[in-house]
Amino acid sequence: MLLSQTDKPEGGQRHVTDAFSRPLRNLRVSVTDRCNLRCQYCMPEEEYVWLPREDILHFEEVGTLVDIFADLGVDKIRLTGGEPLLRRGLPTLVRMLAAKPKIRDLAMTTNGILLADYAEALFDAGLHRVTVSLDTLRPERFRALTRREALQKVLDGIEATVRAGFKGLKLDTVVMRGINDDELVDLIEYGKRVGAEVRFIEYMDVGGATLWSMDKVVSRTEIVERLAEHYGPVTPVVEESSAPADRFVLPDGTIFGIISSTTAPFCRSCDRSRLTADGMWYLCLYARAGTDLRGPLRRGASREEFRSLIIPRWQARTDRGAEERLGLDRRAPLVQIGELRKDPHLEMHTRGG
Ligand code: SF4
Repeated sequence: MLLSQTDKPEGGQRHVTDAFSRPLRNLRVSVTDRCNLRCQYCMPEEEYVWLPREDILHFEEVGTLVDIFADLGVDKIRLTGGEPLLRRGLPTLVRMLAAKPKIRDLAMTTNGILLADYAEALFDAGLHRVTVSLDTLRPERFRALTRREALQKVLDGIEATVRAGFKGLKLDTVVMRGINDDELVDLIEYGKRVGAEVRFIEYMDVGGATLWSMDKVVSRTEIVERLAEHYGPVTPVVEESSAPADRFVLPDGTIFGIISSTTAPFCRSCDRSRLTADGMWYLCLYARAGTDLRGPLRRGASREEFRSLIIPRWQARTDRGAEERLGLDRRAPLVQIGELRKDPHLEMHTRGG
């Protein structure tokens, strides 16, 4: 099968492109659907339906699928969960993926609770970058938001990451009106202290966000205005990138990002797809259906069969879930709780956020 090409193949690598010329380039690999927090915007319910244990891909299986995607142009991998550090032996998988020459960027998003235990081993195994979710710096609020008492562990984890030698640490904050939107400056100041770039994320109506409503969204415009009130002029950083965050600079040179997934989505440059821990492949965070890659993998499908499965799907991809949601007159959570209980794949914690 012929590959359509992007205009700038990297290192001789050809990318498969979708219906809007977006390359297949960035794969988020969820290694578990379990999490040790219960954040209001992601896992607000008490009970969940988990993926069956026997369906979870072994590390070798993840490695094989990554090789197949890398041959098709994927060069960026982000390990996600649930909480990826709950997956036993994660540094072993990191070492395996870091050794693949076609993977130029290997990152992980974590809630940070177990980072202090793993930061060094992850660095030694070859992980390139770490992003830690951090929605508040106040212990009481952390407990209310996540239903766990663990803020200090997260802060310890962040410091351990810096000590281990990681560069380019990012802190992701989901901003929710009336919940943590009074901490924008505190978070920027904390980021400065630890040498991390803070990225504010607009609250999204996806997956398990069953408590979402539009009035809780603090828009990119408002975030910039509030920071400008405190710091003075906020200037956009002009850069060509498919990264979801728009970056800005404060008068003292501090850089921060905003991921405006709700009010100004960035689907037009989205090169991300998602592999769940049980081997389902999704073309968009909002997609209702995915492609089963575990079945063919365990049946021993050939590389050519995988290419025939993956290439046409990506070439036919027209997904732009967040932009379509933007066009709706009345917005409510994407999926209701009853439906989520029937299919755990609809959950954000299964899709890797
Ligand atoms: S909504 Fe879908 S297409 Fe748009 S940026 Fe998110 S994952 Fe990409």
